[in-house]
Amino acid sequence: HCRANWSSDDSDNDSDGSGAECLYRVVLLGDHGVGKSSLANIFAGIQEKDAHDHTGEDTYEKTMTVDGEETILIVMDTWENEKQEEDQKWVQDYCMQVGNAYVIVYSITDRTSFESASELRIQLRRIRQAENIPIILVGNKSDLVRSREVAVEEGRACAVVFDCKFIETSASLHHNVHELFEGIVRQIRLRRDSKET
Ligand code: GDP
Ligand code: MG
Repeated sequence: HCRANWSSDDSDNDSDGSGAECLYRVVLLGDHGVGKSSLANIFAGIQEKDAHDHTGEDTYEKTMTVDGEETILIVMDTWENEKQEEDQKWVQDYCMQVGNAYVIVYSITDRTSFESASELRIQLRRIRQAENIPIILVGNKSDLVRSREVAVEEGRACAVVFDCKFIETSASLHHNVHELFEGIVRQIRLRRDSKET
């Protein structure tokens, strides 16, 4: 019943009567080194040992069944690239435009990355002003308890201020990573369902 829809042809999308749009682009944002690619690899089911063989690819597509309903998630790990600065700017502008949802990642061991997360949230709000886009703030590397610089409460409080969801994850331990992506799907559906009524 759920069909992918890239086109703007809504009648096509409604042909089964469900009105469901089940293909969503999720963009990972955040400073270098916070764990975006690690989270994306877990989403895609790529093992750590294979990760370094896996070059060039930065967009992953997977069908997820959450609460008995299928959704195709496209996770874009395109925020950082190896190219020149001008390209980087273009790519980042593009990232800010195309997401149906955003995952803003910081590392709990790096306060600077936490501050960047706030800036990214502000940037998103400015660029996508009129839209109520689902955003999840992610404090990654929760396994590194001894080098923690950002308390759980700080992350949670930040999410309240920024009106988004919050979760701490550990890509290393695979802790909360599936919960994160399921959470995104649920957030997207909540927005979608509230629009329909
Ligand atoms: P990116 O630059 O945001 O894509 O970050 P990466 O995914 O490349 O991760 C940067 C470094 O942090 C790598 O060495 C990862 O192995 C490590 N890393 C990522 N996530 C975690 C985590 O949850 N815990 C720990 N201990 N290390 C992590
Ligand atoms: Mg990366």
